[in-house]
Amino acid sequence: MHTKTIVELYKGLKNKDFSCVELTKHYLSRINQSRLNAFITITDELALIQAQVADDKIALGNASILTGIPYAHKDIFCTKGVKTSAGSKMLDTFIAPYDATVSQKLNQVNLVMLGKTNMDEFAMGSSNENSFYNAVKNPWNYSKIPGGSSGGSAASVAGGLSCFATGTDTGGSIRQPASLCGITGLKPTYGRISRYGIIAYASSFDQAGVMTKTSQDAAIVLNVMAGFDEKDSTSAEQKVPDYTTNLNISLQGLTIGLPKEFFLSDLDNKVANNIMFAIKEFESMGATVREVSLPNSVYAIPTYYIIASCECSSNLSRLDGVRYGYRSKESKNLEDLYLNSRSEGFGEEVKRRIMIGTYALSTGYYDAYYLKAQKVRHLISNDFKKVFEKVDVIMGPVSPTTAFDLGSVKDPVSMYLADIYTLSVNLAGLPGMSIPVGFVQDLPVGLQLIGNYWSESKLLNIAHQFQLQTDWHLRVPEEC
Ligand code: GLN
Repeated sequence: MHTKTIVELYKGLKNKDFSCVELTKHYLSRINQSRLNAFITITDELALIQAQVADDKIALGNASILTGIPYAHKDIFCTKGVKTSAGSKMLDTFIAPYDATVSQKLNQVNLVMLGKTNMDEFAMGSSNENSFYNAVKNPWNYSKIPGGSSGGSAASVAGGLSCFATGTDTGGSIRQPASLCGITGLKPTYGRISRYGIIAYASSFDQAGVMTKTSQDAAIVLNVMAGFDEKDSTSAEQKVPDYTTNLNISLQGLTIGLPKEFFLSDLDNKVANNIMFAIKEFESMGATVREVSLPNSVYAIPTYYIIASCECSSNLSRLDGVRYGYRSKESKNLEDLYLNSRSEGFGEEVKRRIMIGTYALSTGYYDAYYLKAQKVRHLISNDFKKVFEKVDVIMGPVSPTTAFDLGSVKDPVSMYLADIYTLSVNLAGLPGMSIPVGFVQDLPVGLQLIGNYWSESKLLNIAHQFQLQTDWHLRVPEEC
């Protein structure tokens, strides 16, 4: 049951091959036996109540395609009455008093929430090793990282612990773990999904999305998550199409752009071979390929890490032990209380970024760092604009290597370098996707698809057509 897609589970539930309660119990027992550490909280009681509600709906003939599908929710989305930690000691005892808009929408269609997934603290990281709740393991090889920050979500889908999962992507956190765990991940255009009730990291980048087994499943879930929300002033008043209706358009005549900056020496040769093999497959399906250039994307890492750190230093200031978050027991006076609460509550990487951001925003440095970075951000967006006048979609790697060893990255900058191909997409606010296209030894490789603004339908169509021709997305790790 746990290798089935949403579409397959829907059929199984409808034909009464299994009940939703049975399905949910099956997943919960897998989660309880798992050594992946993919979950921070397992909501077993709630899940079984939701499963019974779903079974009742199915019995009455009122079910939709998502009724009773068990999923895993990244622990960055507020869930009413359920712990919402963002992977931090700061929020270890925080029970959200309200639902994020995404949580509310997922509840409305009678999904079954199995639990909240592990993640890098406040979504800062690319390996899931920055979590207060310890690292997550990659289901393909337990000595490797699953990617981050949505590492728990990716591992839960790849490891057969949930049918699909939610994620957020500020600089690659859906696409990179999806790539390293061999699943399908979609980060929509900035503003497509409401950020209300998502614990903020860097507000001008943060965007929710989906992590699934197939592109078709991603379309089904995006249909529910997308849309304007008056509670989020940056959510777009853009019509939501039915993402499942345009999946069968032929790729004949599609123009693919390959940015030459994405195929330089930092890309592992074997990963590159897999990417080029996938591109050939697209050519055999009628697409044409041309080289393009994103000259300013080479500045994406410093640009992103300056702006994201500035935004996080502001967003996380509310976590001071007074207004929100962990409170130190040891303090003698008010200043001590702030200092100790923040020193003890935040992990190393989060503190590093708060300090970088505070420094870059301070008088005298603001122009040199923050303002300059915003200007480069504009140049990066313009590069994409020019390229999309000539091509329908951009393709390239998601990550320069396959999943690396747990504990192998010793300094923060080498971790930042792992984000080289994903960050420019967030700087421009564009939609991006990762789909499995091969393996290097036992580890999956993902192909990145980057579309123009609001072209989620097109990306899903391209990915779906590829998945009709190939079976990389159907591979599962041994223990599944
Ligand atoms: N690795 C990037 C960071 O640490 C992106 C994380 C994310 O997308 N949340 O900022």
